[in-house]
Amino acid sequence: MIGFFGGSFDPIHFGHIKNAIAIKKELRLSNLFLMPCAAPVHKSELRFNTKQRLDMLNLAVQEFADLSIDTREIDRQSASYTIDSLKQIQQDYPDDKIFFIMGADSFDNIDTWKKYEQLSDYATLVVLPRVGSNQVDDKGVYFSKVPLVNISSTQIRSKIAKHQDLSGLLPDSIIHYIEQL
Ligand code: ATP
Repeated sequence: MIGFFGGSFDPIHFGHIKNAIAIKKELRLSNLFLMPCAAPVHKSELRFNTKQRLDMLNLAVQEFADLSIDTREIDRQSASYTIDSLKQIQQDYPDDKIFFIMGADSFDNIDTWKKYEQLSDYATLVVLPRVGSNQVDDKGVYFSKVPLVNISSTQIRSKIAKHQDLSGLLPDSIIHYIEQL
């Protein structure tokens, strides 16, 4: 059983990291892959470029041995549609049960995703709690009970713009990386 956690990771933060580790444990996954998107389909532009986002993901996986990175969406370079990634993943891991992990805010908008009704043909969808999310049972979707972590990349980007302290929001190694850019 393996999990894929897609996102822009602009930048990666403890909301992603703590949830990824917790869900890996909760579902007893053998591997948990953070899967950064290339060009986000639902966001106009990113604060950090692809190399910087990958550098920060690498710093995170160096520190947290439970986590791995899958770069297929970046390698593909075209728009990162989750359905295309899941089809590829199923071909690459034919013997594994595959989970696709997302926050409740993403799940709330899933009907805007390409071929969203087919996503569950390729993976079990796992939804993580986010502030204000209201989780109701839904056929074929697993709502995780991992603790809520109230951190977002938006909040971090806003603090960077105001030169505010980032401690506790993301690993120190990544804070140092951002400071020297
Ligand atoms: P932004 O603030 O730019 O929208 P984000 O913090 O939501 O970014 P993304 O990289 O866009 O981060 O998120 C990737 C995935 O991780 C999404 O499915 C998102 O819902 C989920 N996610 C992000 N932060 C959290 C969090 N604190 N708790 C649970 N899920 C999260």
